[in-house]
Amino acid sequence: MSSFYELSYNELKDIITANGLSARGANVLYNWHYKKKNFEPCVEDLSKGTKELVYGAMSFGLPRISHIQKASDLTVKFLFELEDGSKVETVLIPFNRKYSVCLSTQVGCAMKCSFCFTGMQGLKRNLKVHEIIGQLMMVHKWLGENRPGPDARILNVVFMGQGEPLHNFDAVKKACDILIAQEGASMAAQRITVSTSGYLPGLMRWKDEMPGVNLALSLHSPFDEIRNELIPINQRYPLKEVLKFIDDIPLHRKQFVTYEYLLIKNLNDSEEDAKALAELLKDKRAIINLIPFNPVPGSHYQRPELSTVRAFEEVLVSYKIPTMVRVTKGDDILAACGQLNTNS
Ligand code: SAH
Ligand code: SF4
Repeated sequence: MSSFYELSYNELKDIITANGLSARGANVLYNWHYKKKNFEPCVEDLSKGTKELVYGAMSFGLPRISHIQKASDLTVKFLFELEDGSKVETVLIPFNRKYSVCLSTQVGCAMKCSFCFTGMQGLKRNLKVHEIIGQLMMVHKWLGENRPGPDARILNVVFMGQGEPLHNFDAVKKACDILIAQEGASMAAQRITVSTSGYLPGLMRWKDEMPGVNLALSLHSPFDEIRNELIPINQRYPLKEVLKFIDDIPLHRKQFVTYEYLLIKNLNDSEEDAKALAELLKDKRAIINLIPFNPVPGSHYQRPELSTVRAFEEVLVSYKIPTMVRVTKGDDILAACGQLNTNS
């Protein structure tokens, strides 16, 4: 049985009209499930035939919550179990009194970055569209049941959980299309951010296929030698080429590309690193997100002192590049970046 959450608005409409039913049904259903966030069958004005078609022949199954961890700062980490028993993690992050959600796109990841807990698992499989959308729907459901009220709103979606989103491009693109669809959740594209390690085959499709969505690149070192160690796919898709493609992406007036920079003690946290990074980005529409390394089991890397992080930040600010230090959220539950591993 195919999943409702797998279907773009147009696909749903086509299925409905192909059965001789009114296209309006697709509007009603998208509105009911995505805008109003209902999890029960639609009780609004919908023809009997459409109801039978949709609720008789489509599955509305969502990932099952296998485990929940709540951090002291209101961050919540969900461990979801999928139909085949695979597990992925999703993180709900407090943001301006509302929330952001960090979604996973793969079970594990093939990129094997040396600092990343997810990378240590290797790639098990891509997530399907309904498993990506399903994470978000389940988080909405949980919020409605556990933290109801005006603040229980998800303002931003970030693809920064397990997996390399651009290595599962088709599913990620379709999930974005579903979130953006006016008839449904109607999320603004600029509220969605996709983070990539620099997977070039995906970036090459970005310009035409992901208009308006925000891009974040995990940069981590301006020097190929170090970046090769941290992000092995840099050997195949070197930073210089990746940046060339990113520079070619048209941006809206207020849009920036985010460059994430993981800070690891004595590896990429020197003044020289900061200057080289600034030189690389100074003429771009860039925001830098500094991420002090979050320790993960089995890694010898260390987090730099706060004074080193501040000194690094100051160099970037002296180049007038907007820079933020990512405050680690959900630290006490291993929900921070790169700490997601579902083997254990
Ligand atoms: N695969 C994508 C998105 C998921 S990872 C990517 O690599 O961009 C999201 C962010 O967490 C990336 O910037 C990644 O480099 C970072 N990250 C991974 N492991 C980390 C760790 N141990 N400490 C801090 N950040 C980490
Ligand atoms: Fe994959 Fe991103 Fe982890 Fe690298 S940092 S292994 S690309 S999830």
